[in-house]
Amino acid sequence: MKRCCPNPNCNREPSLLNSSGCLSPRSRLIIRKGSYYRSRDRRFITKYLCKNCGRHFSSGTLSPDFRQKKRDLNHVVVQLFSSGVSQRRMARLLQVNPKTIARKFRIMAARARAEHRLRLNELAQSPISEIQFDDLETFEHTKCKPLSVTLAVNKKTREILGFQVSRMPASGRLAEISRRKYGYRKDERPKGWDLLFRTLNPLVHAGSILESDQNPHYPKFIKRHLKNVGHITHPGARGAITGQGELKKLVFDPLFALNHTCAMLRANLNRLFRRTWCTTKKPEGLIDHLSIYLRYHNTVLIRP
Ligand SMILES: [Zn+2]
Repeated sequence: MKRCCPNPNCNREPSLLNSSGCLSPRSRLIIRKGSYYRSRDRRFITKYLCKNCGRHFSSGTLSPDFRQKKRDLNHVVVQLFSSGVSQRRMARLLQVNPKTIARKFRIMAARARAEHRLRLNELAQSPISEIQFDDLETFEHTKCKPLSVTLAVNKKTREILGFQVSRMPASGRLAEISRRKYGYRKDERPKGWDLLFRTLNPLVHAGSILESDQNPHYPKFIKRHLKNVGHITHPGARGAITGQGELKKLVFDPLFALNHTCAMLRANLNRLFRRTWCTTKKPEGLIDHLSIYLRYHNTVLIRP
């Protein structure tokens, strides 16, 4: 990987390439050509020259962190984003510009999504027998513009398998105010359920069990994308304490894995806190934040 010419126009004789499509070091066409000191992470970086095309490059050229100035912060930024810290406080704690944090937010989210796609391919090899799913409600900018997060988790391990963020119209007392101020708001949840159940399709086998609450819309979407799976519904329950909608006041909560995961989202994503002033401004931001948290949850928090 390190000694692979990054020039896409470099002439690549098949006889010179190794199994990963790189110029083989044995071809003697890629030679070491000095080094430089990268002060940010105190490392010497080796430089190379491709004698095939004349391009210089280094072991940093092909790194996913290429051209990032504060690459050493990537890891801690992911931890803080999954620990309820706001972007501005993060910038203050790490002594960087808030714009740096905002950029890293996008980069780390894209990376987390790519890693999760690989994980889903891995999971497809050994399908899951019990999955729980439900919708969690939040909003963009104002409570008059609600968003719905549909979440699916593995019942046994509490691993988050996927989520979809969809716009939905306000209900109850806010419905009238919302229509007056912001006009008609389309319900995009059917599209979200469609997409989520499609991604779950390779993860289940005939005889898998899906569990959810008694939302009357779910059966139609399950039937459309998941063949031969069972669907068990449970009646809704009251929250354990005021403001704790997720942890139920039941001795035995049949949807515990899912409700516990939702409670963790509420505790660890500052924009999902109850009574917070960190709010989602655009659905894309919520999607990115959930992507980062999903990876951290699955790889760190639920691992013993
Ligand atoms: Zn080359």
